[in-house]
Amino acid sequence: MSDSDSAMAGGCLTISLGALRANYRLIAARVAPARAAAVVKADGYGLGALHVAPVLAAEGCRDFFVAHLAEAIALKTALPTNARLYVLNGLQPGSETACIAAGAIPVLNSLDQARRWQAAARGSGNPRDAVVQVDSGMSRLGMTPAEAGTLAGDADFRAAVPVVLLMSHLACADTPDHPANEAQRRNFAAAAALFPGVPLSLANSGGSFLPTDFHLALVRPGVSLYGAAPNDAAPNPMRPVVALDARVIQVRTIPAGAGVGYGMTFTADRETRIATIAAGYADGLPRALGNRGAAYYNGVRLPIAGRVSMDSITLDVTALPPGTLKLGDRVELIGPHQSLDQLAADAGTISYEILTSLGHRYHRVYRDSEPPAASGAA
Ligand SMILES: *Cc1c(COP(=O)(O)O)cnc(C)c1O
Repeated sequence: MSDSDSAMAGGCLTISLGALRANYRLIAARVAPARAAAVVKADGYGLGALHVAPVLAAEGCRDFFVAHLAEAIALKTALPTNARLYVLNGLQPGSETACIAAGAIPVLNSLDQARRWQAAARGSGNPRDAVVQVDSGMSRLGMTPAEAGTLAGDADFRAAVPVVLLMSHLACADTPDHPANEAQRRNFAAAAALFPGVPLSLANSGGSFLPTDFHLALVRPGVSLYGAAPNDAAPNPMRPVVALDARVIQVRTIPAGAGVGYGMTFTADRETRIATIAAGYADGLPRALGNRGAAYYNGVRLPIAGRVSMDSITLDVTALPPGTLKLGDRVELIGPHQSLDQLAADAGTISYEILTSLGHRYHRVYRDSEPPAASGAA
């Protein structure tokens, strides 16, 4: 894109493919000899699956997880022919033929899905690979261990449907000492005993940083590839992948007593300089940041004053000398002074939600180099 594209956009989202690579390598090295997959659902956690998946494939990743079959179909041609694409949400009724045509591998979450895939495989004249997901305690997706046991001992099913992976998902992996982790690991191990020789997968990002006995054959990191902390127990070891800044579109000085923004939820207690920036909740910056979050300029914290609007945010920039901020200057929302995780925390949410809500109005720049490390203290 040209400079004018950048100048017209209210904000700039810089995505470091170099940091993404480094994060994949860090997890792959940590879990080896287990393999590292990549979860690229929700358009690669908002960063563009067609950009991130090929970069991860170039690092040697061959296992890619999406949520929907349509996501698998959209991604297929961007990946090496020997890459495997798994559909986490399962095999939806009526989608069997499309799933076969796409060469996607469904995650079978129920006996009904298993029987439909078995019939589709039979009808196609070829065995069709699948993943079987067991619910080990999260009560979200997956069959009961007893249901999985039914399939394990069913020779017709096993002949029609080679089970290439048995998987489960951890509910509390971001809290390493949570007792549910070990309970789920044991439940999963019991189910796995019914499928001797089948590769196993239990760990997401958080699970990849749990002890080795959680790693099994394949880990499935998502959010930490994109820079978010895998857990809340230690400083974030991941490189920041995302930087976000927004342009100043107006600066004004208001007297003590003046209100700012919808509902006038901020009232100046002294003469105050207010800068308005060109990004708002339509760009994925939650309204919950109103009067709570901040932006940064040259390392100076600029608190959000008043509510977040659809297309703009008002900042108290009194801490900067008058005249410092000019129209078109860019303030940092995610970057060296404010991590993705910190912005999410200020909004009362998680990095996943910030990433997957990033709007489509930003000027997006994909860089090979890495941005400077986020300072955890910010
Ligand atoms: C989303 C998802 C992942 C990735 O989780 P992160 O916490 O982003 O690493 C792994 N496995 C399943 C089943 C998922 O739904």
